[in-house]
Amino acid sequence: MKAARHPETFAAQALGWTEPTHRALVPPIHPSAPYERDDTGAYPGGHSYTRDQNPTYDQVEALLAELEGGKGSLVFASGMAAATTVFETLCPGDHVIAPSMMYWTIRGWLRDLADRGRIELDFVENGNLEALEQNIRPGKTRLVWVETPANPTLAITDIRATADIAHAAGARVVCDSTLSTPVLTKPLELGADLVMHSATKQLNGHSDVLAGALVTKNEDEVWERARHERGYRGAVLGPFEAWLLLRGLRTLFLRVRASAANAQLIAERLAGHTSVAEVMYPGLESHPGHELARKQMNGGFGPMVSFRPTGGAAAARSVVSKLELFRNATSLGGVESLVEHRAPVEGPGTPVPPDLLRLSIGIEHAEDLLADLERALG
Ligand code: PLP
Repeated sequence: MKAARHPETFAAQALGWTEPTHRALVPPIHPSAPYERDDTGAYPGGHSYTRDQNPTYDQVEALLAELEGGKGSLVFASGMAAATTVFETLCPGDHVIAPSMMYWTIRGWLRDLADRGRIELDFVENGNLEALEQNIRPGKTRLVWVETPANPTLAITDIRATADIAHAAGARVVCDSTLSTPVLTKPLELGADLVMHSATKQLNGHSDVLAGALVTKNEDEVWERARHERGYRGAVLGPFEAWLLLRGLRTLFLRVRASAANAQLIAERLAGHTSVAEVMYPGLESHPGHELARKQMNGGFGPMVSFRPTGGAAAARSVVSKLELFRNATSLGGVESLVEHRAPVEGPGTPVPPDLLRLSIGIEHAEDLLADLERALG
């Protein structure tokens, strides 16, 4: 019997598939939109049209399902395409519970859906199980959205406890695990029904692909609906992007662990700095979600560190302008470090503190990043 293999091995070898015609270890890219029928009208190649499924997806979807421990996976044109597809599986008037702190564009989309009467919506404080119990409506709530750690405050939510409450009320749990990846958290093992990723971030890791992914625990009717929704709306990934995503995934474990180790060092150093009022990082004992994160995450706490310099929003702007290695740009999860003054990006009404700086920590030498931060903080 073959020894059980580790996820690092599956990722590095992209499941070890070989292209059957030429025995190539690196898969080809399939740009074809149409696929030929036989005389009976059937598709002997198993594909009809690229808006339904492209052969370039097969390996990357199989690898994502393996890494998350799911029954199936779908790749999408973006993280937003993956997320919105989940909500498209709901019926009019279904009730949704989402965290008050979450990726802002998904929050905006949900508000928009609720304003147009498509769904009923409640936001509850991240990880507040009492608030979840108070707001959940048995038989009416269909979906509880979790984002842990949450962008950009790094709030932690107990996936297992959330799933217990949601399932008892007949609702599904969908976990946006973008900031964690399957290297650090396995939401399906903790009770989530679906995992969603902005694969633009650490899954690809090189800031050169816009992509999203869903992974399911069960191949059930909701999953089938999600698959059809992707095709109906043409929310599909380009074959070249799917190929790049698979290439990026081969180094996922190295990159995620290196970024998380750098992030931990930086969070610790910032926490002791006299020009810093608060550091938000689940790897710090001072973080309210630290104990839970230690149980739920494995091998690190992710690439994102948020902090508030002393002196408010003006000080935050000044720090950004003085940083040299940290590039002032949106996004996260690449090999290069980025900084963003978040509240002005999200605009009026955002729950994000006005002086919060969000760092996405890459795989540069930690001392170089620390020197850059210390110089900018003065
Ligand atoms: N979820 C999280 C946590 C994100 O940070 C992002 C983007 O920043 C998204 C979803 C949306 O992903 P995309 O930009 O790939 O559409």
